[in-house]
Amino acid sequence: MARYVGPVCKLCRREGMKLYLKGERCYSEKCSVTRRPYPPGQHGQGRVKLSEYAVRLREKQKMRRIYGVLERQFRIYYHDANRSKGRTGEEMLAILERRLDNAIYRGGFAASRAEARQVVRHGHVKINGKRVDIPSYQVRSGEKIELTDNARKFGKVGAAIAGAEKRNQASWFEVDRANFTMTIKGAPPREDLNEPEVREQLVVEYYSR
Ligand code: SF4
Repeated sequence: MARYVGPVCKLCRREGMKLYLKGERCYSEKCSVTRRPYPPGQHGQGRVKLSEYAVRLREKQKMRRIYGVLERQFRIYYHDANRSKGRTGEEMLAILERRLDNAIYRGGFAASRAEARQVVRHGHVKINGKRVDIPSYQVRSGEKIELTDNARKFGKVGAAIAGAEKRNQASWFEVDRANFTMTIKGAPPREDLNEPEVREQLVVEYYSR
């Protein structure tokens, strides 16, 4: 599956908030949202009143960008969530959270979801002892995720673990960073997913218009 490879700080500036796409830099003075808190482009500093449609579009784009998913896949997630029994917005967030690249990021083994995606894609992750290199793989309750022996020596994995305490700790898995493992306990609860803040109802309204 393809991925976005363009400049990412612009994405945060467009949404007017930190989306934490770059790891350590996002927590530093260098963050572009701190330095230039207005949308990118020549007219970024003009005043614009967003239409109802634009508000929903922005929320959808924001959620998609946070998780690094392109439109086609994101729309599929919406349809999957819409078919399930629970609330569509919450189900959609849960699907995004259960992506393997997100789990590796949340566990603190990568500084950003993009970095986590690379760790997965390059075959450095095992689930219940078997190598899984699909970033969109949906992790399930009871699964034990671990990094390969090689990945445990990576400088960037060590740096990510050192910086992981700065982030909100999720409650839907148990993580043992000293041993580079995590175990999924259950479904991600909605309360865990507020950094950055997302309004999933607007995303549902965008797709169901
Ligand atoms: Fe760039 Fe991170 Fe700041 Fe976003 S939060 S603007 S990705 S440094």
